[in-house]
Amino acid sequence: MTASSPPPADTVIVGAGIAGLLCADTLRRAGREVRVLDKGRGPGGRMATRAEAGATFDHGAQFFTVRTELLQERVDEWLAAGWIREWFREAPWDSSPGGHPRYVGVEGMSTVARRLADQLPFQPSTRVERVTRSEDGHWQVNAREYGGRDLAWTARHLVLTAPLPQSLHLLGKGGVRLPEESLPALLSVDYVRSLTALVTLDGPADLPAPGGVKPEGEPLSWIGDNQRKGLSPDRAALTLHSTSHFGDTHWEAPEEEQLAPLLEAARPWFGGHRVLSARIHRWRYNQPIRTAGRDFLWEEDLGLGMAGDAFGGPRVEGSAVSGMLLGRLLARRPRA
Ligand SMILES: Cc1cc2nc3c(=O)[nH]c(=O)nc-3n(C[C@H](O)[C@H](O)[C@H](O)COP(=O)(O)OP(=O)(O)OC[C@H]3O[C@@H](n4cnc5c(N)ncnc54)[C@H](O)[C@@H]3O)c2cc1C
Repeated sequence: MTASSPPPADTVIVGAGIAGLLCADTLRRAGREVRVLDKGRGPGGRMATRAEAGATFDHGAQFFTVRTELLQERVDEWLAAGWIREWFREAPWDSSPGGHPRYVGVEGMSTVARRLADQLPFQPSTRVERVTRSEDGHWQVNAREYGGRDLAWTARHLVLTAPLPQSLHLLGKGGVRLPEESLPALLSVDYVRSLTALVTLDGPADLPAPGGVKPEGEPLSWIGDNQRKGLSPDRAALTLHSTSHFGDTHWEAPEEEQLAPLLEAARPWFGGHRVLSARIHRWRYNQPIRTAGRDFLWEEDLGLGMAGDAFGGPRVEGSAVSGMLLGRLLARRPRA
């Protein structure tokens, strides 16, 4: 095990979900130096795509929508660059006529994250374990790479975009005290958890257009057909998202007991085909049920920012806008 210290960075961002990456991208475009770290093997966080069992799954977010001009500008760029496409516009569950675009990455929901990360100093497989303030006012970021190597960075600014309880835990471990007045809003943020079954079938599923349904009641909140979506052409692959109630009550259950009710509820959409493989992914932080009530956090005295869906709201767009707005603020700050 070796310790190494790359040169000081202007900003280190923890988390390569959409919030961290768009914060970083905003800084990169402003010519600022930034580095992004993520414990995952790739970027994307809850915009997750996975290949397994001969299939490909979007197993977190299924699509995203746009209501703000700020994100629309990026979406127009991503459409022009061929990173994303419109999956569908109208859905049976829409309340307003005419619908609105639901966007997906061309190679799954993690596409945008992967393309953004390609343009950044991005370090995957790197779990940040401690963040501390040094006496000269810099941040010290200590991380461990998979394989056991210890890494450390110093930075003027630190941005945390992990789900909020994880970010607060990191600060606590490093003995960093946030101002009293910031704490109540941050501590009131709460997330629901959920379970997702990743299922392959030996023939095409039988979902109506566009290839996603929102079943009523328990235990399913969503069935997504990754084959019909165009993501898994060679193998029928279903993403079954549980409700948060089911996730909560079955969180600790053995995997068979988690899977059985989800498969049973989804069976009418299997088109009579056999299940080839099925397994559970647990989402500890599915989405916040209470947010911090502000777009992002910036603590000037600490040089500390936080962004993500705990601030911007429980969707890709909320996280994206939160990250971009924090990036804009940081880009306006004087250079070192
Ligand atoms: C099952 C599910 C379905 C969803 N469906 C939709 C949908 O259809 N449409 C929609 O708009 N939204 C959906 N969402 C919500 C959306 O995915 C999230 O709001 C958004 O992607 C969150 O982005 P983020 O950047 O804030 O956080 P994340 O994507 O969670 O990114 C945080 C990153 O921080 C990293 N990290 C955490 N701790 C550390 C550490 N110590 N060191 C290094 N890295 C660390 C994580 O690995 C992660 O990559 C869904 C979410 C889930 C879970």
